[in-house]
Amino acid sequence: MSNIQTNSRLSQRVQTIKPSGIRRFFDLASKMDNIISLGVGEPDFITPWNVREASISSLERGFTAYTANAGLIELRREISAYMSKRFSVQYDPEEEVLVTVGASEAIDIGMRAILDPGDEVIIVEPSFVSYVPLVQMAGGVPVSVGTYNQDEFKVSAKQIEDAITHRTKALMLCFPSNPTGATMNKAELREIAELVKRHDLLVFSDEIYAELTYDEDPVSFASLPGMKDRTILISGFSKAFAMTGWRLGFVLAPPDLLAAMLKLHQYSLMCAPSMAQHGALEALKNGMDDIERMKQSYKQRRNYIVKSFNEIGLTCHLPGGAFYAFPSIRETGLTSEEFAEKLLLEERVAVVPGHVFGAGGEGHIRCSYATSMDNLEQSVERLDQLLKRLR
Ligand code: PLP
Repeated sequence: MSNIQTNSRLSQRVQTIKPSGIRRFFDLASKMDNIISLGVGEPDFITPWNVREASISSLERGFTAYTANAGLIELRREISAYMSKRFSVQYDPEEEVLVTVGASEAIDIGMRAILDPGDEVIIVEPSFVSYVPLVQMAGGVPVSVGTYNQDEFKVSAKQIEDAITHRTKALMLCFPSNPTGATMNKAELREIAELVKRHDLLVFSDEIYAELTYDEDPVSFASLPGMKDRTILISGFSKAFAMTGWRLGFVLAPPDLLAAMLKLHQYSLMCAPSMAQHGALEALKNGMDDIERMKQSYKQRRNYIVKSFNEIGLTCHLPGGAFYAFPSIRETGLTSEEFAEKLLLEERVAVVPGHVFGAGGEGHIRCSYATSMDNLEQSVERLDQLLKRLR
């Protein structure tokens, strides 16, 4: 194998981690001109002005020092009120809320807080590319459960139960999903909650796309009976609030779990950036209209792209949330990697091949529709050209 795997300067653990499969495509695309990118998983909106202004004002007023390790108490109170109002979950701002450096940090410290070497975490795939490496870096073992097109990428309690062993410690859920856009309703999640109780599991519920749920009300896993005490609820400002570069997220959990995560956070990060926290405070206080405006715009683009994909023969389920379409390219006979490479080199459209997201991803491509209508229209035309040549 490669010399990276025999480098004695590096830990065994880090050498087992594979580089992200998304990177190869971005590296290729960055060297080409005239590319339309449906590759990046981030909003095409700039953070609303009032949020930027609040952050600038905090600097002008001299708030440049560390905040409390867990985050500004005003922000934690606001997060708690927001989660109660929008998602019907109650969290104590003093003991159950931690402001993190993105949802990414929340997942990392959550894993490190609960896993001992060899503990298994069931990951519902296709999934966000960080889950597997973060479990591994925490010494755990990721166990994959695939979801599929024919089930609209939903997962059943039975599928999860089949993957449970005596080493299973936790289950990782993310609905609406990156990369499939799948959502799960209350009844479907309740069945999983029953199973979680029966097998005494913990649950990571990554709800970072919850505000971007288009056709029904989002359900927080922690709001289901008996689940708050078992759930590490992850969310943040990157997606619905259009704040990816601010690096601000939060984690909500029962006091014992939160205290353990706070310990890791305090020694590795100290606190999230103060100016970002001041911006987030404003986003929660006065940002709901902006969220709604951006959500309606994504919804319009979702409707357009899914309809257009199906019209040109790219089978695509209607994703209930997030800003990704995940059409099937199976009928071309190519692997998702081959298809994405052809699309990039021959038609200059960058998408992400589905297999990088794990089980159930092969045969699909992830297309982020968080880009202009003009880009979307051109992408559809270019995809159509490629498909015609492949037939
Ligand atoms: N969780 C999911 C499902 C994501 O898609 C992403 C980013 O793409 C993250 C977490 C990380 O978000 P953050 O920018 O808050 O670290």
